Amino acid sequence: MPSDNRVGEKVQDAPPSPTRVYPQPFSMAQGNSEIVVMKFGGTSVAGAEQIKRAARRIVAAREAGSQVIAVLSARGKTTDELVAQALEISERPDSREMDMLLSTGERISCALCAMAIHDMGHKAISLTGSQAGIVTDSSHTRAKIIDVRADRIRETLDEDRIVLVAGFQGVSTDSRDVTTLGRGGSDTTAVALAAALGAGVCEIYTDVAGVFSADPRIVPDARKLAMASYEEMLEMSASGAKVLQLRSVEYARNHGVRIHCRSSFEDSPGTLVVTEEETEQETMDQPFVTAVTHSEAEARVTLTGIRDEPGVAGKIFIALAEAGINVDVIIQNEPVGDDQLADLSFTVDRSDLRTATEAIEALGEVCAGVRTDDRIGKVSIIGAGMRSHPGVAAKVFQVLGEESINIEMISTSPIKISCVISADRVPDAVKSLHEAFELGADAVRPEDPSGAEHRPTVSG
Ligand code: ASP
Ligand code: MG
Repeated sequence: MPSDNRVGEKVQDAPPSPTRVYPQPFSMAQGNSEIVVMKFGGTSVAGAEQIKRAARRIVAAREAGSQVIAVLSARGKTTDELVAQALEISERPDSREMDMLLSTGERISCALCAMAIHDMGHKAISLTGSQAGIVTDSSHTRAKIIDVRADRIRETLDEDRIVLVAGFQGVSTDSRDVTTLGRGGSDTTAVALAAALGAGVCEIYTDVAGVFSADPRIVPDARKLAMASYEEMLEMSASGAKVLQLRSVEYARNHGVRIHCRSSFEDSPGTLVVTEEETEQETMDQPFVTAVTHSEAEARVTLTGIRDEPGVAGKIFIALAEAGINVDVIIQNEPVGDDQLADLSFTVDRSDLRTATEAIEALGEVCAGVRTDDRIGKVSIIGAGMRSHPGVAAKVFQVLGEESINIEMISTSPIKISCVISADRVPDAVKSLHEAFELGADAVRPEDPSGAEHRPTVSG
């Protein structure tokens, strides 16, 4: 495969960059015109009107002088419908064929959008992930991008054409098969292309105005964040915020890609996801807590009567990892009796519950019993400022206690506190924490109408 070693070409081995990298413009053919990557989510291309609207935005960016690559998702609920079609045919669809099927949704969007752009008097070409040079490993339905060979995109941009790339897919050069990147994977396609081509910004157009301090469907006064750091956004995506795929944020952080997450239906600025240094420059110091996130779709597996000896946990979690299961919160109790038997619980995505229990059962003798609970949810608070302020966890537990919400498991990182609770109490937990930490628009101090200087306080 030809490679010319231009800056940003090979994304695979690039070191994580703590500060922003400004790659060189790849070509002088258009003068120094900036490259912009614009990604449109499913609702932003759902119907003919929305596709035309996206096309107008893309054309406007081109007419403003940028070279434009647009990454599109499948229209509306297309991917869900394709999954449902597969399940009508087969209880356990073959994963290679699943990828052949699911990758079609994004291609439809791109072909239609290219037609709309042609009608607006511009040249555009739609490409599959494979044609666009997105190379992945060969793990079907959850493939990882390992290289971006962007020569064809560059050549096409140099021919003064707008490039439309089908999101969420690539090709494995080992198996020569089409792969998909996991649900929400178009975000990662967009970020990977932005990194490879040295785009100034990766614009993620969606049906919400940006990243909010909580889900506005649960908390109507949730505030749009002007900025979030990569670290905060990673924690938010990992703990249930749906706005950006987790892997896209990891990729952006590792390659210094600035993300602008914004509405495709209005022009106001959305949320910038950038380095912590950049967020600090904007706001003199950080609020303790930035956002409350939640998930109502978790499940817990409890293994009872595990032998308390070295190597047992390794065996269990290797089996889960080999089954491709992401384990979230883990707790193990110390045996109290002389029988040296422990209990171990962990949470997984509800959709992974069956695979997880099968993987454990296949191990045979590791424990006396397996219990599951699929009515588990999680509420998390996230904020970079938490690192330097004690008392945040205490306040979280106190607030949940006052709401009579039982905390079943707890996990923390330096900038996150997560509590596993019953799924049906998740909305109450989100509302009360959002209020207690004064994250809502109403809580903004009167002297600071923008909210940029808002500082919730921790009091005992
Ligand atoms: N269409 C895929 C999904 O629904 C990928 C994406 O939208 O990013 O998950
Ligand atoms: Mg999406």
